[in-house]
Amino acid sequence: MQFSSGLLEAAVNEFAKLPGIGKKTALRLALHLLRQNPETVQQFSETIDRMRREIRFCKRCFNVADGDFCSVCANSHRQQRTICVVETIRDVIAIENTQQYNGTYHVLGGVISPLDGIGPDQLNIGSLLHRIEHERTDELIFALNPTIQGDTTIYYIQKKLQGQPVQITTIARGIAFGGELEYADELTLGRSLQNRLPVERYMNR
Ligand SMILES: [Zn+2]
Repeated sequence: MQFSSGLLEAAVNEFAKLPGIGKKTALRLALHLLRQNPETVQQFSETIDRMRREIRFCKRCFNVADGDFCSVCANSHRQQRTICVVETIRDVIAIENTQQYNGTYHVLGGVISPLDGIGPDQLNIGSLLHRIEHERTDELIFALNPTIQGDTTIYYIQKKLQGQPVQITTIARGIAFGGELEYADELTLGRSLQNRLPVERYMNR
């Protein structure tokens, strides 16, 4: 791709670094911004810059937050004694979009995967166990992707919680729910939350 402006070329190269954006799309986006007035573009770049600089992670659940705690943890109308365990922040967003869940979350930051060098200590598991003990959690709902690593993670945490008075469930996994959590449609994901199963039944299938 030939450019008569080094500035335009640099902008295109920045856009092309984003996932799913090829050079052609990058050029289209850069030219689009070029058609806007400078203030609009400044606001665009400042918003992204501020997000990166100022965003925090909730001290309790590791969801994204604007302060010490995320909006879910700070909401007294949510059932604070129910915790839904997810892998990533994208999963929180997917479940929130179903509007079927009124508890809190705990973002693990991944799942146990020895082949990738990810053990329990690399994940937010210690903080989860601490929460369950100190917040007198009633129910723990696993909403992990249906992979061997996901199942290993459920098994590990469940073992750690033996003897604790917390009900442990996992979201139901129907045939339509084969892929990753964030790609499940809202209806399917919402239904699988409602039809959750006790974890012992799921693990002994
Ligand atoms: Zn939180």
